Amino acid sequence: MHQVTCVVHGGAGHWPDEEQEQALEECLAAVRAGWHVLQSGGDAVAAVVAAVVVLEDSPLFNAGVGSVPTEEGHVEMDAAVMEGKELKAGAVALVRSVRNPVRLALEVLKLGQEVMLAGEAAERWARAVGLATVSEEELIRAAVRRPTPPERIGGTVGAVAVDVHGNVAAATSTGGRRGKRSGRIGDSPVIGAGTYADNRGGAASATGDGEAILRFGLGRYAVSQLERGLSPAIAGGMALAEISRRLVGEAGLILVDRFGRFGIAHNTRSMPVAWLRSGCSRPEASICSIPEGRGPARLFVRGMD
Ligand code: ASP
Repeated sequence: MHQVTCVVHGGAGHWPDEEQEQALEECLAAVRAGWHVLQSGGDAVAAVVAAVVVLEDSPLFNAGVGSVPTEEGHVEMDAAVMEGKELKAGAVALVRSVRNPVRLALEVLKLGQEVMLAGEAAERWARAVGLATVSEEELIRAAVRRPTPPERIGGTVGAVAVDVHGNVAAATSTGGRRGKRSGRIGDSPVIGAGTYADNRGGAASATGDGEAILRFGLGRYAVSQLERGLSPAIAGGMALAEISRRLVGEAGLILVDRFGRFGIAHNTRSMPVAWLRSGCSRPEASICSIPEGRGPARLFVRGMD
């Protein structure tokens, strides 16, 4: 019997004070959803998808219904899910009308052929498998109704989990960078960059400057450190230190290994996270926000061995 763990994040960046409490509440709700799946005997893949769906359904985060618009005023969402036993993965990019892109990524994983579907082909697949849709107008109206405070950076969501069989999984979902060029795909749906899982090491979900994360291959890099036997907190810290050394970019990571240990690392001012592990009586959440005026964040690392 393995130690069971679920960890979620709500995006590396900067969260203004007035949004922090709600962000933490919603991260706690997401971790509870993932935990419920794990406790009912569900696998790690089902758990990370359940957790991410909760955050995609919240207008607070930059994913699903809260996705930010592109420079042309469209919404183009990316998501991925990967499991660590057989290295199965599914990803979608540039989807405009799927309510929960992470569910569509799961359908691609289940299909077991392609790893990534983008644009209209992905949307056709969503309709074929009967996933809930949302009109782009509705998404844009939601964004206009609830504008993100200009000082807020971040809001991508992700989850990692290990189930009772010691299988790990990761999922990430995003609306991408605010005002991004139409057609731009970030790191989140790219296996090895924003999302990665391999039972030999563990699972990772990244957030932050997508182009830097893509060029560095942050998710795969972090899981490779777990394969070497490092704890997730040390591996996460090393991965963040290395990407900061090589490239200009802000990023965050959550990591879990097959033993149920987890790590959280970011070099941004804040990143809301929540976690629950067997043996803990209730989920915990934290945002680790650096008050204005204390200078740029360096590297924040937390975790549980
Ligand atoms: N990594 C995401 C992207 O570049 C954005 C983020 O995590 O805030 O699309």
